[in-house]
Amino acid sequence: MAELQGLPEEYRDMSLEELHREIRRMEQLIRLLKDKVELSEPRTSGPDTQDVDLHSTQKTETQTLPCRTNTARKEPGCTRSLKVQEYKRYGRQMIMPEVGLSGQLALKKARVLIVGLGGLGSPAAAYLAAAGIGTIGLVDGDKVELSNLHRQIIHTADNEGMEKVDSARKFLHSLNKEIKLVAHPYHLSSKNAVETLEEYDVVLDCTDRPATRYLVSDAAVIAKIPLVHGSALQTEGQLMVLNNPPIATASKKKGPCYRCIWPKPPPPQSILTCGEGGILGPVVGVIGVLMAMETMKILLPALRTNADESTRKGTPFLLYSAYLNPSFKSVTMRGARENCLACTTMANGRTLKNYGYDTFCGLSCPVNILPPDERMEPKAYRSISPTSGPAPILVDVRENTQYNICHIENSINIPWSTIREDPADAFQSMNKHIQHNGSSQVPCEICFICRFGNDSQLAVRRFREQQQKDSGLKFTCKGDIRGGLKAWREQVDPEFPDY
Ligand SMILES: [Zn+2]
Repeated sequence: MAELQGLPEEYRDMSLEELHREIRRMEQLIRLLKDKVELSEPRTSGPDTQDVDLHSTQKTETQTLPCRTNTARKEPGCTRSLKVQEYKRYGRQMIMPEVGLSGQLALKKARVLIVGLGGLGSPAAAYLAAAGIGTIGLVDGDKVELSNLHRQIIHTADNEGMEKVDSARKFLHSLNKEIKLVAHPYHLSSKNAVETLEEYDVVLDCTDRPATRYLVSDAAVIAKIPLVHGSALQTEGQLMVLNNPPIATASKKKGPCYRCIWPKPPPPQSILTCGEGGILGPVVGVIGVLMAMETMKILLPALRTNADESTRKGTPFLLYSAYLNPSFKSVTMRGARENCLACTTMANGRTLKNYGYDTFCGLSCPVNILPPDERMEPKAYRSISPTSGPAPILVDVRENTQYNICHIENSINIPWSTIREDPADAFQSMNKHIQHNGSSQVPCEICFICRFGNDSQLAVRRFREQQQKDSGLKFTCKGDIRGGLKAWREQVDPEFPDY
């Protein structure tokens, strides 16, 4: 194919889909620039002759926003750009000069992908659907669980067991039938991520696994779309807008990706998920809502202030803490890295090439640290006959708060965090416990248990190391309970609380 003269270099290798996306982006930009010119031009006297349908439904609202009344705009040639009911539905946001009819049409034309329909994805999806984003893609391979409902507000108890994408669709359609919802009922992988993201203009990463965060970011770099990234745990949350702009332009450098900011993943043992560390609903909710806002700012540049644009030197990294005063803190992050794997090799190769994300994050073999003969099934532990001697003492290594929620009778609690930080002290306290309880079996035997059977293996390994150094320990270790309390519930006690 002959090269078009004057076509900037960055567009020459773009696929048809990327070109269509660029055209959409530029059309949107042109509309906004025209609006800006119109708003900046001196107003002529006399009443505004704005479209009748829009104006008549909004007269009272413009009166409640006196500071905006002098910027009410005329929308040329727009007598029926939206359905009649859409003027009513979106009226309150359309009368804002930053949105206007052209902005609403831009939202209607936009295609936004939400990866993860949990605590972040729920409020983000609800606000974006309500705002009239024309096409929203929903990615999640999980089903709705009762433990989701305190924070994942678009799912209801009636939908327990339903695919999250279907539950989300049900809720979002009840909120707004004017939009198109596309279900992607699977987990993203290096095989499907790029082709999924390529269908959209912006992606929101609402997941909670480091491996998936790298995957979504890398795919966003290859698909050349901005990424709104959020995360939350316990009482804190974070927000970043990445890969924005997704390609360098004459006036701006390419925005950094997640890998530019965090070239190395955190050590796997330092990672807590919401299921392990806990999360307060409003904390994750506030980040999800902010993600929706940042998405609208990407889609509607008029929502960004001039000051934002001229002073922004790097990527803003917003931190929220329920305990901070003020609750929000903004840190400016560095720009894109020159040697970033995603922004260079992957982007140029235009593929993830089956990159091993779990291996990169150290998650390929975290659950089988111990050899099989050191692991005991819950039912095997339960069936130990008293005639063959006392069963090993169960040492529960969950944090004390979780142990207090529920535990197996006669088990003792020594948290993994205590063992990890000071194994000598932790195992000495176990010595004292055994002496205090006058175990008839000296040395007696212990067996570690935790929630899912991961920390218990680390505790066994730490015990073995300590045993080499400390000959005064009055107990030996049998190993751990495979699968932890989750397996205990499945094999021994179905009534054991699942929290
Ligand atoms: Zn990068």
